[in-house]
Amino acid sequence: MAYAMPHLDMTDFKYDYLIVGSGLFGSVFAYRAHRMGKSCLVIDKRPHLGGNVYCNLQAGIHVHQYGAHIFHTSNKKVWDFVNAIVPFNRYTNSPVANYQGKLYNLPFNMNTFYQMWGVTTPEEAQKMIEAQRAEALSAMKKAGATEPRNLEEQALLLIGKDVYEKLIKGYTEKQWGRKCTELPAFIIKRLPVRFVFDNNYFNDKYQGIPIGGYNKLIDGLLEGVETKISTDFFENRAYWEKIADKIVFTGKIDEYFDYVYGKLNYRTVRFEHEILDVPNYQGNAVVNYTHAEVPYTRVIEHKHFEMFGQEVYDVPQTVISREYSTEWKEGMEPYYPVNDSLNNTLADQYRALAEKQPNVIFGGRLAEYKYYDMAPIVEKVLDLTID
Ligand code: FAD
Ligand code: UDP
Repeated sequence: MAYAMPHLDMTDFKYDYLIVGSGLFGSVFAYRAHRMGKSCLVIDKRPHLGGNVYCNLQAGIHVHQYGAHIFHTSNKKVWDFVNAIVPFNRYTNSPVANYQGKLYNLPFNMNTFYQMWGVTTPEEAQKMIEAQRAEALSAMKKAGATEPRNLEEQALLLIGKDVYEKLIKGYTEKQWGRKCTELPAFIIKRLPVRFVFDNNYFNDKYQGIPIGGYNKLIDGLLEGVETKISTDFFENRAYWEKIADKIVFTGKIDEYFDYVYGKLNYRTVRFEHEILDVPNYQGNAVVNYTHAEVPYTRVIEHKHFEMFGQEVYDVPQTVISREYSTEWKEGMEPYYPVNDSLNNTLADQYRALAEKQPNVIFGGRLAEYKYYDMAPIVEKVLDLTID
């Protein structure tokens, strides 16, 4: 990627916008503001631009350094916008789950039900699931509950005990580091259940990966914009606050307010990247390991995001990443906001402070403490009024 260095003699120059963070929120904002004739400076504390969508080229393969990123949306405006910056490929996410060496298709669909029970028609599958749902419902009623009180109850009502025990429980408890009985029901509601043979993980109309990798998207968005990497806003806050009329802040909201109410919590992921001397390791981009005893949650094989059919064999090596989900500590990357009432209440207090802050726009996953996918971030910035 090419980085434009800013003038650092700022005494005679003030920017319209200082944008803290070059992830998708900051980069789409910079793109729009720059096109409107606003002067912008983007700073990022990491040694590269792009935030979590940054890719690193290894063995001729774009490696998603901060975890697999699949762009998906039903919003045509968002899809057209990103495709005008860089065309996207035809990648369709269809992960496979490995439970004790046996493979199951995801999301839960007729292929999964065939693999689980040998059923071959939607009617047979529905019967199996209905029987297991009825069991779950009567257990809940016995316990005096009318609504599912946690993720376990929600999953049992949605899909029954066989799928829950083999494909949900172990994976979810590894991913969140908490028992399914202690997690909110809504986490699992977004997983589709289908009585058709369709392994497409998303229900969205459009999905894909930028051809040539996500760095092309970020480079395109930031073309002509001044940027400065390896620069932490908080290391010289007083200086950066004077450099522009307005600030777009996409870092941690609790850090911005000096942790006045206390620290927010996050989940993080440790990635173990490995280059292997085989052209095709697992035959799919995403394989989830759903048994509790396998320490990682999933293995990503990056070449399958951008190489299809024979193309896979034209590149002799492959790069895989094992993902280990862990509790966040200071110094680690804060990936996922923690969805519990303690953290949500704390985040609300910070959001209330943010609303009163003049000339600062707080946006994105860290500054809003909200688990956003990429497309809603782009949509949000496209709908912002920039003046
Ligand atoms: P970020 O990309 O985090 O950007 C924030 C930037 O601010 C960072 O570059 C950071 O270095 C910088 N920054 C922070 N503090 C400071 C500071 N003090 N000074 C200077 N710079 C600072 N979405 C999907 O749609 N599909 C997926 O498949 C998908 N997979 C994901 C997998 C993982 C493991 C994770 C963590 C996220 C995934 N997402 C996915 C979500 C996606 O990453 C986010 O929606 C998007 O990247 C958020 O953009 P952002 O600009 O808010 O944040
Ligand atoms: N999930 C699961 N088994 C899987 C995949 C997902 O139980 O093989 C559950 C898990 O609780 C996860 C939720 O479904 O938190 C949502 O999954 P998704 O892949 O949408 O989560 P993401 O990794 O994108 O946050």
